[in-house]
Amino acid sequence: MEKKRGKLLVIGFGPGAFEQITDRARRAIEESEVIIGYNTYVDLIRGLLTTQEIVRTGMTEEVSRAQEAVRQAEMGRTVAVISSGDAGVYGMAGLIYEVLMEKKWHPDEGVEVEVIPGISSINSCAALLGAPIMHDACTISLSDHLTPWDTIAKRVEAAAATDFVIALYNPRSGRRTRQIAETQRILLGHRSPDTPVGLVKSAYRDRQQIVLTTLADMLEHEIGMLTTVIIGNSSTVVYDGLMITPRGYQRKYTLNSEEQRLRPSERLQVAAEPWSLSAKEQAGASGEAKSVQPDFPAPASYSASSSSPLEAAMEALQILEAKGIVSGGYAGSAPSAVANPSTLSAAVNPNALFEVGVAPGIANKKFTARQMALLAEIAGEQGEMEYTPHHQIILRIPGGDPERVVAELKAEKLLVFPIGDVAQIKACDFCNLEKDGSIPVAEELNRVIGGLKTPKELKIGFNGCGMACYGAVLEDIGIVYRKGAYDLFLGGKTIGRNAHPAQPAAEGIAADQIVDTVERIFREYTDKAFPGERFHKFFKRVGTVAGFRHEEQPAVAVADAVCGD
Ligand code: SAH
Repeated sequence: MEKKRGKLLVIGFGPGAFEQITDRARRAIEESEVIIGYNTYVDLIRGLLTTQEIVRTGMTEEVSRAQEAVRQAEMGRTVAVISSGDAGVYGMAGLIYEVLMEKKWHPDEGVEVEVIPGISSINSCAALLGAPIMHDACTISLSDHLTPWDTIAKRVEAAAATDFVIALYNPRSGRRTRQIAETQRILLGHRSPDTPVGLVKSAYRDRQQIVLTTLADMLEHEIGMLTTVIIGNSSTVVYDGLMITPRGYQRKYTLNSEEQRLRPSERLQVAAEPWSLSAKEQAGASGEAKSVQPDFPAPASYSASSSSPLEAAMEALQILEAKGIVSGGYAGSAPSAVANPSTLSAAVNPNALFEVGVAPGIANKKFTARQMALLAEIAGEQGEMEYTPHHQIILRIPGGDPERVVAELKAEKLLVFPIGDVAQIKACDFCNLEKDGSIPVAEELNRVIGGLKTPKELKIGFNGCGMACYGAVLEDIGIVYRKGAYDLFLGGKTIGRNAHPAQPAAEGIAADQIVDTVERIFREYTDKAFPGERFHKFFKRVGTVAGFRHEEQPAVAVADAVCGD
């Protein structure tokens, strides 16, 4: 009689709770004649066992466990090999196949193998924290028993630099305590100390523990063999005790950004994704794409690409226009914010919001009547004009056609600026343009770095006399023209309880050096700051920027509160 063909069931049983075990995993455990697994795991699924023979082994005996499983299956038995989470994630699946390959096993002839997926810790722990994974994420095991530490460190470095959300498995054990500290050090080289970090211990088991902390403070909490550490990326936020990483596509469309706010029905159209590979291919194929020249150069972070996001967006729109899918001008057509979805595909995303900063000049603060009328006309019934503290009016136009709007504004001699995390020159009015000695320098500075992308919005105050009445010394960078030269102030914090002016950094910088100096500061900031890190925080963290040393602000004396509150 022919011998019964053995079977290996490689089962991931999830984080630990019965209800998190898949139906297939349960049935596979029932089907099996032998169960092979690490002691703790066998105990976790004990309630599902009936007559199975149990082969228990210790944690470090994984290889012998895999060999034993293969040996038993080769005897014709149905063998369950169990892993927590998913057997294919730092589990037994790979090892089983390695043993089989070593024996020159063939899927159709040798023992049968079925790998049964389970919920891995990255998923179970993420669910308990909120939605921290959401976008691109990776898992890294900090165990250097089988992987050289140099390899692990390189992976941490690469994941940190490319803004992945990271789930750290095997973060720490009794003997391996330095790896997690070293990992934190590498991460701090790329991410803000405030980055949200979630620590989940024994997810879905009796001693479950969830801690929400930050990259700076994570080591102050318990981290052990049963903890998974989830490190947020630059957009991860904490909301009411939950750790959430936004998905990233429901955003607004600004002059220097490819982000758009769209309805589900529109999201997958190529026009809605001007940054996508399809849009790039279409733009390349059409051969008719022309670029728009805004007042500012392409943001530094995009300099590797041949076109800026604005150009890419324009190209995509032009292709649709050429195909008649989109009508060219609609600035005056007042698209409805509650458009019927069935009509949406016929128009250029009426819900996409075009946002742009507008000013009559760097020094000139006076709008002409014609300019105001133009702004009102462009905003129309649906758009808005926001008066801001930054010497700009922000125009927001639903369904706005960026190219056309920018052209109309420029034709009326208005300056246009991107909104958001960019460098902005906030100059004074130079006493009604009378103290005009330094205006060319302010304009030059705007030409060189105004509108360029920054890790966080960067305000550069520029005042034309020693009175500095427009508050240049309160901004991130302050420049004050005095006695024919320039005084420089760095690291103001304009908001918050501990707001403070910028630190006086240098006096009497010559006119032919000031723009270079500020540009060097700007470059260091954009090159070395964490995403989202404000200039004053960056200055404090790195200690020296372009040769200027940071000095601690004097500590604030805390007055005893009257009435005890
Ligand atoms: N195959 C497993 C991973 C095994 S490696 C899976 O897919 O999840 C062991 C590591 O997994 C632990 O050090 C810990 O980081 C993580 N882990 C396993 N079970 C966990 C649980 N219930 N809660 C939190 N982390 C867990």
